[in-house]
Amino acid sequence: MAIIVNPKQIYTYEQMKEDIIKLEKKYTDIILSERIGNSVDGRKIYALRVGTGKTEIFMNGSHHAREWLTTNLLMNMIEDYCESFVNHTKIGDYFPGDILTEASIWFVPMVNPDGVTLVQKGHSSAKKPEEVLKLNNYNHDYSSWKANIRGVDLNRQYPAGWATLDDNVTRPGPMMYKGPSPLSEPETKAVYNFTLHHDFKIAVAYHSSGEELFWKYKSKGELLKTTKRIAEKISEKTGYQLVYPGPNPSGGGFTDWFLDFIKRPGFTPEISPLVGPRPVPLKNYDKIWNDNREIGLLLASEALLIKK
Ligand SMILES: [Zn+2]
Repeated sequence: MAIIVNPKQIYTYEQMKEDIIKLEKKYTDIILSERIGNSVDGRKIYALRVGTGKTEIFMNGSHHAREWLTTNLLMNMIEDYCESFVNHTKIGDYFPGDILTEASIWFVPMVNPDGVTLVQKGHSSAKKPEEVLKLNNYNHDYSSWKANIRGVDLNRQYPAGWATLDDNVTRPGPMMYKGPSPLSEPETKAVYNFTLHHDFKIAVAYHSSGEELFWKYKSKGELLKTTKRIAEKISEKTGYQLVYPGPNPSGGGFTDWFLDFIKRPGFTPEISPLVGPRPVPLKNYDKIWNDNREIGLLLASEALLIKK
């Protein structure tokens, strides 16, 4: 069977769009795609549901521009799960054909399409190239850029501890600027509204790099217990180290907000061994895929155990 998604390439927004259309056509019965919003430059932010089950979980990637390999991973997962579903084959310990009739996984593979495109193609890809160049201090190398196209860090935008989040960076730029207010950016607003319109039992925001797993913000009690139990399972599969935050963890991230306000387990896996402030090289992909291939299925089956 022909493969649609090739994750071992610089995976662009345009490639993703093409692949979404092809996947939806091939797997009509188990994939549903929708647009959950538009980026600052007007690119569509896509969500795809895989599975037909009522219980839902959520996995997203590329909040941070330079971390676009997380999109490759999620698109690869989508096709892999669909293929196994229709062929009734197993992936590791799991049967997608069983799990994904009871649960569904919603994917938003690229939260920050303008930022990803900037990292991959430079500022000529932006609607206002001169302004982007200025935000980057007239440096033409965008490989370390994390923010959206107008210089707001999308993972410092969520209303969980936003006000007390350190604001050393007071102006828009390549990273760390938390924005003038929570959810000031259309990309975060889209993910936020999308999450509120669903009843996700578990959520994951993929980032890079470091082979670590963030799983705890300020959670307590039952939530802390359940989240920790699942975190240990993810860690066992991936080999990623659990991160234990101090007593005053900084917030603003999607997972912080999901844990704090939705009050369900949320995770931030950092894929790949540490690579510094740049995109993860494609040569690391095979290991990343091996480590993470089953994670969506693991979480979908865990979600079936979460009753409230
Ligand atoms: Zn990140």
